[in-house]
Amino acid sequence: MALVRERDGRRLHVKSKLMGESLISKSFMKNFKIAPQQRLFPDVNVIKIGGQSICDRGAKALPGIIKEIVANKHEHRMLITTGGGTRSRHIYAIGLELGMPTGIIAKFGSSVSEQNALLVSTLLSQWGGIKIGHDEIMKLPTYFVQDCIPVLHGMPPYDYFAIPSAGWRVPVHRTDVGTVILADLIGARSCILVKDEKGLFTDDPKKKGNVEFIPEISAAELLSKDLDDLIIERPCLEILQSSEVIDKIQIINGLEEGNLTKALRGENVGTIIYKK
Ligand code: ADP
Ligand code: MG
Repeated sequence: MALVRERDGRRLHVKSKLMGESLISKSFMKNFKIAPQQRLFPDVNVIKIGGQSICDRGAKALPGIIKEIVANKHEHRMLITTGGGTRSRHIYAIGLELGMPTGIIAKFGSSVSEQNALLVSTLLSQWGGIKIGHDEIMKLPTYFVQDCIPVLHGMPPYDYFAIPSAGWRVPVHRTDVGTVILADLIGARSCILVKDEKGLFTDDPKKKGNVEFIPEISAAELLSKDLDDLIIERPCLEILQSSEVIDKIQIINGLEEGNLTKALRGENVGTIIYKK
């Protein structure tokens, strides 16, 4: 290992291309050649089961989705994530009323989405459903070889370090974001968000009349529309735009039987948000 002493004699570096860099310089980063990002598990489909939209409907929605996941298990490798939903919102509301910081609210969100991961993995357990933690992500191939369906809670592990935003203390990176980051991390085959509406509309169809359906759109165009409400957490759009390995996110209605199967086969049965 080559050691290099700076000219003024103070710092001793280990020789590398990043030696002595702040890692902040824009011009340095722009000119630095890096290898394209590897797709670690390009055959794995990342599928989020919505918290509020699916899990909270319990027996009215989950058995159908579970059945469809199991029916697809031999054709498709699936990594399931879970949202938080109503119980997250309940404790978020209490926390906000009591002046809790973003990091505490984020911790609440993690534990609720973990409850749903336990719920979904329990429902899947006789067909190989297994609840895994973040440290198990790199063991995915081993789970699939053993015929498992891994289930991970969707909240990204920022927890106490959740990034605060101006004027609002519910963390902006929640379970949609965790799912999209996960898809980028593993270079997934697809990233499918299973919710309770056909897909993206111009506004929330549960609250507004006269909304238009958007079957496909680019992340840039959607950002530029600056819609008041979205079916997907906003930071997902920027994460998609900067991803080297995923080029779309699909949102489907999990209350309609067959949609997940079609989405896994590459059909657009809801909304597709493209990177470009
Ligand atoms: P999840 O359970 O996956 O976290 P959410 O309940 O957070 O899902 O988000 C899905 C909900 O978003 C839908 O049920 C819908 O009522 C609402 N929504 C808000 N804005 C839109 C929009 N522009 N298009 C479609 N749905 C929207
Ligand atoms: Mg949500």
